[in-house]
Amino acid sequence: MKLKIPQLGLGTWRSEVGEVGDAVKYAITEAGYKHIDCAKAYENEAEIGLVFEDIFNGNFGILRKDIFVTSKLSNFDHHPEDVLKAYKKTLSDLKLDYLDLYLMHWGIAFKKNPDGTSKIDPVSIKDTWTEMEKLVEKGLVKNIGVSNFTAMMLNDLLSYAKVKPANNQVEIHPYNSQNELIDFCHARDITVTAYSPIGGQAKEGVPHLLENPVIQKLAKKYNKTPAQIILNWNISRDVIVIPKSTKAERILENSQIFDIKLTAEETKEIDSLNINYRTCDPSAMWRIPYFK
Ligand code: NDP
Repeated sequence: MKLKIPQLGLGTWRSEVGEVGDAVKYAITEAGYKHIDCAKAYENEAEIGLVFEDIFNGNFGILRKDIFVTSKLSNFDHHPEDVLKAYKKTLSDLKLDYLDLYLMHWGIAFKKNPDGTSKIDPVSIKDTWTEMEKLVEKGLVKNIGVSNFTAMMLNDLLSYAKVKPANNQVEIHPYNSQNELIDFCHARDITVTAYSPIGGQAKEGVPHLLENPVIQKLAKKYNKTPAQIILNWNISRDVIVIPKSTKAERILENSQIFDIKLTAEETKEIDSLNINYRTCDPSAMWRIPYFK
């Protein structure tokens, strides 16, 4: 049975300290979000924690169990002896006593060089996963999963996992539609979350997905914004979306995505935009041919 995860969550990567708290508070208390996506690597969990503490103290009528909270094990914490420590640090920053979902952020480990730069650390995914399983066995976390895993990485993980991954969080938007990976995961009861679901942060000089004529045409037809069309395309195929914004009007806009139904023809038209374009590409970010 696939895990039930609220299909809309708020992303928090690059949400600045000083802004992220207000964004999370608005999303939960005003815009009806039931799912927040966090990570130690985003370096903003402490501010989110203050908001969780405020909300879950009972003043808003929202309980801890009403909100699905995800966080991620950083690449620097893959050594077996570091996993529990890292999990506890995230819990203490988020001021929570459990997470709904804890993901291995990437299937690759890093270590710091003395000069502050980092390099690949050859830690096996199996050793890290086994420690994550212990978090479940001890009742410290509800579910564990992975992120940025390819079908072959998952296939290998499934060969030894005692606790199956509940979720794979990967980059998905119309320019990187990942249809085969989604089918592979769903066939194994692994839920899929789309990160950068509206195409990620705009890059100078690169035309953004939101400007694509097909998306713009559909936005006009349905009286929706381009972002809403793209998010609806993903949720209509059972994919969870976690758009990030720190602007109240966009947080609200990104939540109003459940009231239209694209035709099969229109869905196909969006599918045809795929060019396997990644905004998060380790070969550019870290010079590692991760997806090659
Ligand atoms: P998104 O696709 O969510 O896009 C975020 C960008 O779009 C921001 O620049 C935001 O700006 C802007 N934006 C948001 N809403 C709208 C809108 N309605 N109209 C126009 N622009 C909009 O990209 P992210 O890369 O942030 O991905 C979302 C989340 O996924 C992350 O925040 C993180 O939680 C997760 N993630 C996970 C990764 C992983 O390795 N597991 C990797 C990357 C992301 P503004 O804030 O100014 O509104």
